[in-house]
Amino acid sequence: MADNAVIVGGGVVGLATAYRLAQDGLAVTVVDAAGGGVGASVNNAGWIVPIMSAPVPAPGMLGKALRWMARKDSPLYVRPSPRPEHVRFMAGMLRHCNPQDFHHGLEALVSLNERTVSLFDEYEKDGVRFEYHRTGQLMVFHTREAMRGYQAAAAPLERIGHTAVPLSGDELRDLEPALGGHVQAGLQCPQERHVDPATLVKGLEIRCRELGVRFLYDSPVTDIRTRGQAVTSVLAGGEEVGGDLFVLAAGVHTAPLSRLAGFPLPIQPGKGYGFDDTSGTVRLRHSVYLGEAKVAVTPLSGRLRFAGTMEFGSSDATIDRHRLRGIVRSAHEYLPRFPATSQPHGWTGLRPMTPDGLPVIGPLPGKDNVLVASGHCMLGVTLAPMTAELISAEVKGGQQASHIAPTARPFAPQRFASRRGRSAAGN
Ligand SMILES: Cc1cc2nc3c(=O)[nH]c(=O)nc-3n(C[C@H](O)[C@H](O)[C@H](O)COP(=O)(O)OP(=O)(O)OC[C@H]3O[C@@H](n4cnc5c(N)ncnc54)[C@H](O)[C@@H]3O)c2cc1C
Repeated sequence: MADNAVIVGGGVVGLATAYRLAQDGLAVTVVDAAGGGVGASVNNAGWIVPIMSAPVPAPGMLGKALRWMARKDSPLYVRPSPRPEHVRFMAGMLRHCNPQDFHHGLEALVSLNERTVSLFDEYEKDGVRFEYHRTGQLMVFHTREAMRGYQAAAAPLERIGHTAVPLSGDELRDLEPALGGHVQAGLQCPQERHVDPATLVKGLEIRCRELGVRFLYDSPVTDIRTRGQAVTSVLAGGEEVGGDLFVLAAGVHTAPLSRLAGFPLPIQPGKGYGFDDTSGTVRLRHSVYLGEAKVAVTPLSGRLRFAGTMEFGSSDATIDRHRLRGIVRSAHEYLPRFPATSQPHGWTGLRPMTPDGLPVIGPLPGKDNVLVASGHCMLGVTLAPMTAELISAEVKGGQQASHIAPTARPFAPQRFASRRGRSAAGN
């Protein structure tokens, strides 16, 4: 077993992994291009939602994407881009928009999510300090028809104890009086949780430091040094950082790093937008999903967070005002007291997307001592603790790894290895 692990990427996935490996007794170094508290790990809705395990590539997605292409403020937007990796990725994703792959992906994510909520509870028990809410989630819709797709995708979650109970518009307004009269139907999901993601990242970092984890911030990894099949060190901000195990957990930037390590992974950014409303005009108890608009609303201490939209083909943090306005408009449609004229200060985050909608967790083919923990798409916060469990089992090997192997198999980077696999996956 390795003694000395280097985690590249100190986002929520890298930190959860560092924490777990430090608990296992490894000497751990986290190397990050920036520092804590930037990017998608803090700019997100903070939902812990096994109930939303459905992979992004789904039957019917192509039709919706085409309809929405014409609208710059739509929930899904594919920005035209000639970059070959973007074109290959989109083609790969479209190939996965079929019932078989969707079903296979959903089942795999249901199994992966089985311990999610209990792992977050263990974080709290072990002294990770973060803002943690157990009030449950509501998914709300303007039509029953729109609700049915979500209800069907939520059904397999019952086997791991996550339920989605159908409610009428009036029943929903009893629970959340701020919901408008157009809301006709919804699902109450009492087992779902939410966090303030910035506090989670900070809490994990603090707990990692208590366990002796070393942090190298402002140190982007620019090169990977190898001897034979093994990586010996990474070059990070001019410093050579050695170790006997390397974990690539750099979100969307895992793609160029995996290329440096000799096995390029098809991870592309899916840009999301959000803003925090501190006006107090709308108050909610539950996290609320505005179904048709695909907007997440999260009640946090002193503010209401709105997050949504999926934009492919864009890889920087610039803000397209149309997309932000789309979220404001949706907020007003479902929550009429929310001021439609609001001009919020927005933020963006890059989700690490994969063509099959599944995360990439496990050994990087062609290297003996490199593991990947990335590509978590819309569920990186939710899946961070369980990803760390898989990485820990992989590091320990033997009995541990074989025990967890059936759960881990669908997420192995190896799935992109064969020629056919690589083209089917959009690599
Ligand atoms: C609008 C929005 C809403 C979302 N809502 C939710 C939600 O409610 N629930 C949920 O589960 N998920 C949600 N997500 C998804 C979630 O945020 C991501 O899946 C998650 O942040 C991915 O975490 P990560 O640690 O893999 O990557 P990141 O958060 O991107 O972190 C990667 C880290 O790697 C570092 N890095 C990059 N390149 C290098 C390099 N070369 N060398 C060293 N370090 C490097 C970066 O500085 C960064 O700190 C949302 C995302 C968005 C955008």
